[in-house]
Amino acid sequence: MAIVCTHLLGFPRMGAARELKFALERHWRGEIGVAELEATGRELRRRHWQLQRDAGLDFVTVGDFAYGDHVANHIQMLGCEPARFGFTGDVPELARYFMLARGVAAEHQHDDGCACGHAAAEGRPALEMTKWFDTNYHYLVPEFDADTRFGLASRRLLGEVAEAQALGHRVKVVLLGPLSFLWLGKEKADGFDRLSLLERLLAAYNEVLIRLGAAGVQWVQVDEPILGLDLPPAWVAAFEPAYRRLAAADMSILLATYFSPLQQHLELACGLPVAGLHLDCVRAPHELDQVLQRLPLERELSLGIVDGRNVWRTDLDAALTLLQPALAQRQGRLWIAPSCSLLHVPIALGDDSALDAELRSWLAGAVEKLDEIRVLQQALVHGPAAVRRELFAARAAVAARASSPRVKNATVAARCATLPSNADRRQSPFEQRAAVQHARLQLPPFPTTTIGSFPQTADIRGVRAAFRRGALPEADYRQAMRSAIADAVARQEAIGLDVLVHGEAERNDMVEYFGEQLEGFAFTANGWVQSYGSRCVKPPILFGDVSRAAPMTVEWTEYAQSLTRRPMKGMLTGPITILQWSFVRDDQPRADTALQIALAMRDEVLDLERAGIAVIQIDEPAIREGLPLRRSQWADYLAWASRAFRVTAAGVGDGTQVHTHMCYAEFNDILPAIAAMDADVITIETSRSQMELLRGFAEFEYPNEIGPGVYDIHSPRVPPVEEMLHLMRKAAAVVPAQRLWVNPDCGLKTRAWPETEAALRNMVLAARLLRDPQ
Ligand code: GLN
Ligand code: ZN
Repeated sequence: MAIVCTHLLGFPRMGAARELKFALERHWRGEIGVAELEATGRELRRRHWQLQRDAGLDFVTVGDFAYGDHVANHIQMLGCEPARFGFTGDVPELARYFMLARGVAAEHQHDDGCACGHAAAEGRPALEMTKWFDTNYHYLVPEFDADTRFGLASRRLLGEVAEAQALGHRVKVVLLGPLSFLWLGKEKADGFDRLSLLERLLAAYNEVLIRLGAAGVQWVQVDEPILGLDLPPAWVAAFEPAYRRLAAADMSILLATYFSPLQQHLELACGLPVAGLHLDCVRAPHELDQVLQRLPLERELSLGIVDGRNVWRTDLDAALTLLQPALAQRQGRLWIAPSCSLLHVPIALGDDSALDAELRSWLAGAVEKLDEIRVLQQALVHGPAAVRRELFAARAAVAARASSPRVKNATVAARCATLPSNADRRQSPFEQRAAVQHARLQLPPFPTTTIGSFPQTADIRGVRAAFRRGALPEADYRQAMRSAIADAVARQEAIGLDVLVHGEAERNDMVEYFGEQLEGFAFTANGWVQSYGSRCVKPPILFGDVSRAAPMTVEWTEYAQSLTRRPMKGMLTGPITILQWSFVRDDQPRADTALQIALAMRDEVLDLERAGIAVIQIDEPAIREGLPLRRSQWADYLAWASRAFRVTAAGVGDGTQVHTHMCYAEFNDILPAIAAMDADVITIETSRSQMELLRGFAEFEYPNEIGPGVYDIHSPRVPPVEEMLHLMRKAAAVVPAQRLWVNPDCGLKTRAWPETEAALRNMVLAARLLRDPQ
């Protein structure tokens, strides 16, 4: 009989009711102590292991839990907390953990001689946060320099192993692999190469593996997702000796790869001296045959067959068609699992109260995915007849989704198919448009503006929440929003800004606001996914063809414009950002879905223009994060992404000025694609990498107008005039002055009014000094 072993790579850690989030936040506010927080963590682990056991998995996975971030767990376990935090021996582990994650504010520092172990110095910023591969999860970035040392420094993992064993579970431990851990970190000294730390690091990994072995653990899943990236030759060459070295610990290692095809590393991955290999069959099904040919039969093969990144119910028939021959070829031995950690999907969707029964039947959260794994295992071992009912139900749901009129809209299809080839071209080239726009808008040099949102006061949020709950009549809600708009307009006029915004008081979230009004999107009540720390997001589910039922922003913008003679900027979210921050349908290419969103947003752009709005901003902060993990696929993505933006924008006349906005990512490597979007003006965050970004724009000779953010909106600090002036002068040294705008880095919704007004007043002053240096 076949032996099909089932497992998972990682489970969501927040809890079905986000228990961990609330416990963390209570702890940070000082409302609960460490013991209570730890009790919550222990209870969640217990529950999540039990779910794995109930689904009949052969192992429960230990090591995926974290009070924030699994990479931060490794930093502590491996004893490489950066020296800059100045920790001394007496700061408790969890307290250090939260300082790494959240930083230490200067004002919270203790005096010299304080026994708590804090160094008395200025504040220490938290570890940097960066996106985990192409997901919306942010990990804490390890910091390395030549003095970095490693060694088993935390008993947390061993404690969790003991916990699971005490509950009677068979344990597989997950670790982030040594090469991926180094790769994801940052070099904190010039000329230093973090790969030079590998030898030391491996010694620490061996120590961990030996201790796990002594604790009775037989399998350790070692994640090396960087095998799905293009790596420098030295990194590729490091794998074989590194894993040879780990073999000394005499532990069965399952090397896990995910998110991306192995491509040029496939042979390497199949040849490493480990006990098993996990392959992401959702992202790289086409590599299965090659892996089957190359992976020695004495190694275990784990196939990630259920999508760990998306929420759709698995087509179990298709999965079996792929698994059955693989099982035969492996002579009746196979492991099956979700494609990657389930961290990236909601814990359950089968009972979400905001979704109707039909939609629910199409979806699978983590819990439902475990059941899919169970059904597949049964079908493989005992034959499909053993799970006839389950297979039938899955088949029916998949078929219903495929043929549902809610998914396909013939009008949308026809519009995409017959889109004229010039639909993504403005009428005239930039110089000509700019002349018409300047004549119409009559703005001074260095025009000032903001990025869209203004402080979301408790009042505003309260009104929105009450309206949502049905506790506030629509007329009252509209009135409240109008007064928020009027207030924002009055303040901007008083400050003396040139191009105004309505302030986005009606928006809870820049994607949700549009998703809720567009056809083809669904929203869950409880579909939370961890973003970072205690922060969770609830991405919309984009299940069907996208179209716009009615104008979405015109009324608010028109009202705002009626209050002022200055230009009022219409404010929209771009198609790629909407795509990127949603769970996207898997039954058509992302490019097709992006085009549908673009066409719906294009209608909104044209309605705004028709209403007399002369400046329209289409935000695309997420364009960079949509980049594929492999460079070879960048060009294709950038081509369809920038086209989607142009389709959104290009219907307007020359006199309508199109802005876009981007922030909090590296943009220098995609500047040509950003230029290809052909926005008249781009406002872009520059505070984190000031000169670098500007240098990029100068070297590439970005052709259109630019507003480099002159201050960081993340702190209540009011930047002095000179500081912003200095930054703008730097900008004017590399970008022609007549193409420069003056604006903050990003939207101001997380700020309060007093600092917002003070900062903008200074910003306007800086612009005046630029125009007219005495
Ligand atoms: N217009 C949005 C705002 O001002 C832009 C937000 C963003 O870039 N993330 O809030
Ligand atoms: Zn922004």
